[in-house]
Amino acid sequence: MTDLIIVGAGPAGLAAAHAARARGLSVLILEARPRIGGRVVTALIGGHPVDLGAHWLHAGPINPVVALARGKGWRLKRAPVETHLFVNGRRQRPAQVAGYHAAFGRADRALAAMAGRPDDQDDDDVAAASLPPLGRWTRPVRAITGLVCGRPLTEVSAHDFASSEYADNLFSPEGFGTLLARLGRDLPVALDTPVTAIDWSGRMVRLTTPRGVAEALKVLVTAPPAVLEGGAIRFTPPLPEITQAAFAAFQPAVYEHVVLQWPSAPFQGADRIATLTGRRLPGLGLLTRLDGTALHYLELDGPLSQACGPDRLAKAARLARTILADQFGARAIRDLKVLTATDWQADSLARGSWSSVPPGHASIRDMLAVPVAERLAFAGEATDHAQWGTVGGAWMQGTLAVERLFGPT
Ligand SMILES: Cc1cc2nc3c(=O)[nH]c(=O)nc-3n(C[C@H](O)[C@H](O)[C@H](O)COP(=O)(O)OP(=O)(O)OC[C@H]3O[C@@H](n4cnc5c(N)ncnc54)[C@H](O)[C@@H]3O)c2cc1C
Repeated sequence: MTDLIIVGAGPAGLAAAHAARARGLSVLILEARPRIGGRVVTALIGGHPVDLGAHWLHAGPINPVVALARGKGWRLKRAPVETHLFVNGRRQRPAQVAGYHAAFGRADRALAAMAGRPDDQDDDDVAAASLPPLGRWTRPVRAITGLVCGRPLTEVSAHDFASSEYADNLFSPEGFGTLLARLGRDLPVALDTPVTAIDWSGRMVRLTTPRGVAEALKVLVTAPPAVLEGGAIRFTPPLPEITQAAFAAFQPAVYEHVVLQWPSAPFQGADRIATLTGRRLPGLGLLTRLDGTALHYLELDGPLSQACGPDRLAKAARLARTILADQFGARAIRDLKVLTATDWQADSLARGSWSSVPPGHASIRDMLAVPVAERLAFAGEATDHAQWGTVGGAWMQGTLAVERLFGPT
């Protein structure tokens, strides 16, 4: 007899398991992958830890994972705020960089003003509409903002976008995935155990897996909405219409890493951000010199990621070389190597990097956070507001879901 079974050992599932154990409940996590961490995983590349999913510990002051890591004495370092800015391959002078930052500031203030307005469905416009004209910086600010939120701003709810908190970011020098794996080390997890059906018609909830059936008093599902919308788990009885409508409304956010080794890259200083704009591209984000090494991330938005298609590594390599040669000239990329390119959108257990909310649907995160019944609930990054799309939000929601299912302590 298990009190709580959790589907998924990503941040939300691990947090829920910790919260349940802290109450003295018996708990088991069923995880489809052969590892824990979900979309937070660190690989060793050339001996250096490189995150292939989440990398930034966002919103330091409110992020529960930051508080946990600090409490355990694990080292975190401040993420960069300074930016390299290149327009048509030319490094911009400090005054121009300041102008670019000021444009971002104006965009942020406009979006914050939108967040302060009542959360009214009829008033929930596209995020792009709440941005003021920003002169020469309009295109890059829109493009970079669209890149970091995982969809073009024309497809994103203004209220939802504005509700997020991203300031004061940190990195884990060992990799975010390493940190998460350590947080999940002592938890009871059955790996390689995909849940294919959940029967919540009786007093006990029954979960079907290829390894057999498991039963629990209550179940928390943390699989991403896009995975559930695709029918990966069959529910008996079917989920209420309001829950199904929420799953259907979410759209997958696309944000993919291309990992470059580029010893002679024209960037100085460890872990700084570069914005490249001009010529063919409205704006492109790069995280440069990870930890002072020759490794860099080039980040792809939806259209660029799609352009890489199935023959991913070769196409991502060609794309990166074309973009960077266009900016800096062919000589500058002579020692550039593309080491790997992620494809979370094609990953059947993720179906995207996180969940984005389209205009007019600002309430779906709250809708999904309400337990379906006293014995069945959903949680994950998709159900958080201030930290949607992030590990911190997923962790927060895993903890809250246990409270929603079992009552306050
Ligand atoms: C490239 C990339 C970059 C990112 N960058 C950042 C960043 O810098 N900072 C940040 O905070 N966030 C970032 N994110 C987002 C972050 O990774 C997610 O918000 C977070 O992992 C969500 O946690 P979760 O527990 O909700 O979902 P997940 O991490 O997806 O965990 C869900 C788990 O459920 C499992 N599962 C799915 N279906 C089943 C099933 N049927 N049976 C059993 N198990 C199942 C999955 O395998 C997975 O382990 C990034 C994501 C990507 C992909």
